[in-house]
Amino acid sequence: MRALRVLSGVQPTGSIHLGNYFGAIKNYVKLQEDYDAFYCVVDLHAITAGGHDPTALEASTRTSAAIYLAAGVSPEKANVFVQSHVPAHSELCWLLNCAAPIGWLEKMIQFKEKARKAGEEVSVGLLDYPVLMAADILLYKADLVPVGEDQRQHLELTRDIAGRVNSLYGGKKWKKRKGGDVLMVPEAFTPKEGGRVMSLTDGTAKMSKSNPAEGSRINVLDTPDEIAKKLKRCKTDAFEGLEFGNPERPEANNLLTMYQLCTGLTQEEVLAECGSMRWGDFKPHLTDAVIAHLSPIQGRYKEIMDEPGYLEDVLKRGAENANEVANLTLRDVRDAMGFVQY
Ligand code: ATP
Repeated sequence: MRALRVLSGVQPTGSIHLGNYFGAIKNYVKLQEDYDAFYCVVDLHAITAGGHDPTALEASTRTSAAIYLAAGVSPEKANVFVQSHVPAHSELCWLLNCAAPIGWLEKMIQFKEKARKAGEEVSVGLLDYPVLMAADILLYKADLVPVGEDQRQHLELTRDIAGRVNSLYGGKKWKKRKGGDVLMVPEAFTPKEGGRVMSLTDGTAKMSKSNPAEGSRINVLDTPDEIAKKLKRCKTDAFEGLEFGNPERPEANNLLTMYQLCTGLTQEEVLAECGSMRWGDFKPHLTDAVIAHLSPIQGRYKEIMDEPGYLEDVLKRGAENANEVANLTLRDVRDAMGFVQY
């Protein structure tokens, strides 16, 4: 029996921030110990907004992959690759497009929200985003897809699309010949462990790359000065003392959580240390903790970028392995759908 497989990715839509790091990448490092891990930089997903800056995409793709490695993802334990280096993602997406009813896609909450903002300029790619995500997952027969709650609806859609392909093309004849379904319907999606980090300018919105306000996030590669400035200016409240979990105090909860994530302390330990502090004392304290946590990652990032050819080699190797696995699934789908292949 094959090892259980995990698949996940981050879009190279900008600088990787503390939310991506604590919510996704840090977890990748843990999961690579027990799973056959496939971690990609999902560059094809990053262009769905339409009219992206090609230079920025290229830089962000390399930087994101290097941050995975700097944060502790090991190329000896995990396959790190760029999504567009595995053409099967685009091809399976097309095949799935022709099986997925458009009504299913129009119901996606994320599409409705983003399309409302984009107005008439909304791209076909944005509507198709979840089908590409289904292709990502189904190609690797992933057992675990650790993504945030915001992606749950897309994961459900993946199951529906796989089920539809199986019922359309994987009937009795196929089952008899192959002994199973065309696509593996992923059974359980375990939500990702780890912290949800909120915006510094609005403690109720998630920290995100696409927020136009640079001051709303701390990037993994921010300098100590930038971190200090952002935290000095970030939104706080007029309550006395600091506490977790008070719905009237989203900023306090967020900043204490950030401190907890950076220090590895428990909530009780954080409160014992910082509960009675004023914002003016806590902010420099948090700044030191964030800088101390990020500085070794930044050091490794610099080493990776300074070593000629290293990143390219890792990504090439990762793509070779990913192509091998992905092409097996693609071949089955092509076969089931009646494409001539040799
Ligand atoms: P964008 O703003 O371009 O949509 P993003 O910053 O929201 O990007 P994604 O690339 O969509 O990030 O997500 C990559 C991973 O990071 C996903 O697993 C997602 O759940 C996680 N993630 C993103 N933002 C946060 C956050 N603020 N807190 C915790 N996890 C997050």
